[in-house]
Amino acid sequence: KTIVEFQDVVKTYGEGEALQYANNHVSFTIEEGEFVVILGQSGAGKSTVLNMLGGMDLPTSGKVLIDGEEVSAMNDKQLSDFRARKIGFIFQFYNLIPSLTVRENVALTKSIVKDAVDPDEMLAAVGLANHKDKFPSQLSGGEQQRVSIARALSKKPRIILGDEPTGALDSETGVIVLSLLQKQSRDGKNTVILVTHNADIAQCADKVIRMKNGKIREVITNEHPLAVE
Ligand code: ADP
Ligand code: ADP
Repeated sequence: KTIVEFQDVVKTYGEGEALQYANNHVSFTIEEGEFVVILGQSGAGKSTVLNMLGGMDLPTSGKVLIDGEEVSAMNDKQLSDFRARKIGFIFQFYNLIPSLTVRENVALTKSIVKDAVDPDEMLAAVGLANHKDKFPSQLSGGEQQRVSIARALSKKPRIILGDEPTGALDSETGVIVLSLLQKQSRDGKNTVILVTHNADIAQCADKVIRMKNGKIREVITNEHPLAVE
């Protein structure tokens, strides 16, 4: 079942001589439960795609359809409601609130989504039960990213979006984080979409959307994606 559809999406910045096509007629589909990597070098247009997937930005033209909703036709209020209900975000630098404990960071979701998963349950699921009363600064980078994943998952999102989620981690820690995300899609719970310039990560994906200069260069379906352990 298709959960994401980009139909001929154009996103431009600036005008006149400064006009720039961040996305230049981009079309693709993503199926429910897929683990998708959007791959490309800096400036390829990946973050622009991710921002539109997450309802943070609207296309200049074209349609973005997510889980039966036309995101590209929403107003600001509808977009923020859509984000809160359906999207879990994971960032390169974790975006945890430093003055709150790990548990409090994850529990924040409860104020946004009524039936959010209990923070203790969520932290146990990412292997951090014994760190819940610490502050983010007391954890390693890999641990902070797992807190951020716990926070994203606790609202039971339809889609998890990650912007270089392993970009700030060493390779060993990155594998742990990647494995958590891959399992999430394997278990059929979530559709996971990551943006990266790292081709190694693409080997683990069910589908790779390769971008360059604002356009899709190729879409590769991996029959046998590398299992991350
Ligand atoms: P990537 O994530 O692949 O590095 P981006 O989607 O961030 O690429 O950017 C694609 C192009 O759009 C780049 O040339 C970038 O300079 C331009 N761009 C992105 N966001 C903005 C913005 N807010 N204002 C102006 N230009 C932008
Ligand atoms: P990882 O490989 O997951 O990044 P590290 O080897 O960096 O883990 O960290 C191991 C342990 O050291 C962690 O349990 C963490 O709590 C602790 N630790 C790491 N960095 C810091 C820090 N800046 N301040 C306090 N404790 C830290």
